[in-house]
Amino acid sequence: MENKDHATDHFTLDPKDQMEAIKDMRAEGLKPLGNWHSHPESPSRPSVEDIKLAYDSKASYMILSLMAENPVLNSFHIEAGEYEKEDLRIYSDKYYF
Ligand SMILES: [Zn+2]
Repeated sequence: MENKDHATDHFTLDPKDQMEAIKDMRAEGLKPLGNWHSHPESPSRPSVEDIKLAYDSKASYMILSLMAENPVLNSFHIEAGEYEKEDLRIYSDKYYF
């Protein structure tokens, strides 16, 4: 989905794009658990704007930082202006992180 803010450390999604994505997920029998965005030039933690714009306290907010040589992905719970890092484990047939 397009970042309507065109910023490098926070995002706003078009509600129409979000509805389309949820429709696609439902058609595939998937349940949305959260969202992710990248920080090309800043660390993998919520920016002030990210915290301000985190409206869904049930969603996980994942942030992929690309500022260092190796990418860093963290997941956060954001609620009432506070954030907390979540346990994030990625499984695949080939790799275990
Ligand atoms: Zn951000």
